[in-house]
Amino acid sequence: MGASSSSPALLVQCSNDAAVARVPALFVASDFCRQPGFGKHHPLSIPRVSAVLELCGALGWIDDGCMRTSRVASVPELTKFHDPAYVEALQASDAAGCVDPAVRERHGFGNFENPLFPGVFERAATAVGGSILAAELALEGRVAFHPAGGTHHGRRDRASGFCYFNDPVFALGRLLEAGISRVLYVDLDAHHGDGVQEAFLDDPRVRVVSIHEQGRWPHSGAADDVGHGYACNLPVPAGFNDSELDYLLESVVLPFAAAFAPEAVVVTCGTDALAGDPLSRLALSNVVLWDAVERVIGDTGPAVVLGGGGYNPWTLARCWTGLWGRLSGRDIPDELPAAAQKILRSLECDLVEDEDVDEAWFRTLADVPRPGTVREEVKSLARRGRALHGLA
Ligand SMILES: [Zn+2]
Repeated sequence: MGASSSSPALLVQCSNDAAVARVPALFVASDFCRQPGFGKHHPLSIPRVSAVLELCGALGWIDDGCMRTSRVASVPELTKFHDPAYVEALQASDAAGCVDPAVRERHGFGNFENPLFPGVFERAATAVGGSILAAELALEGRVAFHPAGGTHHGRRDRASGFCYFNDPVFALGRLLEAGISRVLYVDLDAHHGDGVQEAFLDDPRVRVVSIHEQGRWPHSGAADDVGHGYACNLPVPAGFNDSELDYLLESVVLPFAAAFAPEAVVVTCGTDALAGDPLSRLALSNVVLWDAVERVIGDTGPAVVLGGGGYNPWTLARCWTGLWGRLSGRDIPDELPAAAQKILRSLECDLVEDEDVDEAWFRTLADVPRPGTVREEVKSLARRGRALHGLA
């Protein structure tokens, strides 16, 4: 894994175009990214950030100058948000290799959804450490990309939705600690960013926007749910297409952001909103997600870009590799080099049927765009969002 510091000469290699004020982008990762976790039959057992790192390597988009290594968040750091009893229970259960039934009930881990597996505590604490580091790097005026982050369902005192801790909360917390007075959080994962919304429910320094599939777990984040006035929820219908995402960005998300005038932005960019994901039914192309991230973070100010969900290893690896390419100023190739195609062809996934695997997932990085009609329910959602948040 990359060096924790680097010479200025190396940093120049991953600089963006000189016209972009905020350079260079940095990639935050750890050795955990290369190791499978969760156990064999879990949806998160697929190669994820490891495949992204391999693809970026095959494209020549990774060097030590752009890489930063996550550290493990300490217990005193974790308990700035999480309940000390929960942190201790996860650490002790991991060490013992078993979970007491009362602990399982109380803290939501040691079940199929949030299994206890060897190293779970350190792995989860490293995701938090990576997001704290990403925030610190962003404070230097950079875009920090931490695809192993984005565990947006983690709660103060329990695991939820494959998330043990809530690393986005720590990225936001670190920015606030540094004295930033307005931080925007935008969640593009297919599931509602419930844990982040709950964590900052009362905090006027934070605005939380979540675009997610309606009627899907965790069944929160309804259009009328504004929390204590600081949350904007946009639950979208199945089949949500590129034109509809652009429509919501232009009519609600960007005006909402502009009215708030954030000093820093944190984005969770799960890939489960892409067409082909086995756990949701949205239908975006990766290109529109890359555009959305770039539009939301803008050209200046601290920006942290996290990963999140995503259960199709091909669409995930292509999306986050291309996202890193865009954030670090690379040209996206029309056709992938043979070494990159080989990496994609080697991936496997029990949740995606063989006949649903698109040949283009092996050969290209960018999807063909997926425009479509902007349905009345999406227009109505936008009107509701604008009215709720006083956007003219
Ligand atoms: Zn998700």
